[in-house]
Amino acid sequence: MSLVLDGKLLSKEIEANLLNRVAALKEKTGRTPILATILVGDDGASATYVRMKGNACRRVGMDSLKIELPQHTTTEQLLAEIEKLNQNPDVHGILLQHPVPAQIDERACFDAIALNKDVDGVTCLGFGRMAMGESAYGSATPAGIMSILKAYNIEIAGKHAVVVGRSAILGKPMAMMLLQANATVTICHSKTQQLSEFVQQADIIVGAVGQAELIQKDWIKPGAVVVDAGFHPREQGGVGDIQLEGIEDIASAYTPVPGGVGPMTITTLIRQTVEAAEQSLA
Ligand code: NAP
Repeated sequence: MSLVLDGKLLSKEIEANLLNRVAALKEKTGRTPILATILVGDDGASATYVRMKGNACRRVGMDSLKIELPQHTTTEQLLAEIEKLNQNPDVHGILLQHPVPAQIDERACFDAIALNKDVDGVTCLGFGRMAMGESAYGSATPAGIMSILKAYNIEIAGKHAVVVGRSAILGKPMAMMLLQANATVTICHSKTQQLSEFVQQADIIVGAVGQAELIQKDWIKPGAVVVDAGFHPREQGGVGDIQLEGIEDIASAYTPVPGGVGPMTITTLIRQTVEAAEQSLA
């Protein structure tokens, strides 16, 4: 039987610790950490994610400042909002919910976020610093995955990690974080030929493709550590990017879907906001 990497349980433990840290910060400084969330347009899923992030702030005693902008917002208007938040000393972290409407230059807007408030780890500068081993907040989903691997004492150094997916918020930073942790890393993407052959070599496999159960159970090497970042709703619960049914007979450890990677993404965002507030108010 394999070890279940329980992100839900871990995120509860981390939140309990954050509640104490926020209380201590309030006591010492009289100030409450604030995460500013920016939601542009009327995408239902994005609105739900922003609401979940606001709820998580409340659970640890933090405040959130909600900025909601209309669907027709321009890049210039969004940049102006971000600049106001950069300059606002009461705001410790900024989250721009991805994706923004197509007319907006999302990369320019992410990169406008001040490095010390980039608690979701979306700026090129933050990514570059992280990749070079310098201090920066990590992209929330891969940083959450690294926290899970650490909490469960999963050995990374010297292992072959195969990351399937190379997005800016997930696959690329995931690969760099695993490299920083001394894994030998292979990155696969939509142009990779014979994906199964790469997956078969993985000691650690990370599914970050956005397609339901694309990575098949039969491809996975016995004893591998399986990390599934995907979530695709189904009538009963949901499935990930990896075929997980029966995986406990193959993998040495795996993240369940749901209850694995998902809860840790929000908790990581909140943890990095508390760290930013502690830095700013020290
Ligand atoms: P994305 O931006 O759509 O990127 C998907 C990546 O998968 C791309 O790099 C793409 O390659 C690659 N890909 C697509 N089809 C492929 C195939 N047939 N073979 C190999 N690679 C393929 O998605 P994302 O934002 O990174 O998200 C990936 C998954 O993680 C999704 O399931 C998403 O729901 C989940 N996610 C979860 C959280 C969380 O909080 N738990 C957060 C973010 C994302 P190309 O670059 O060549 O197009």
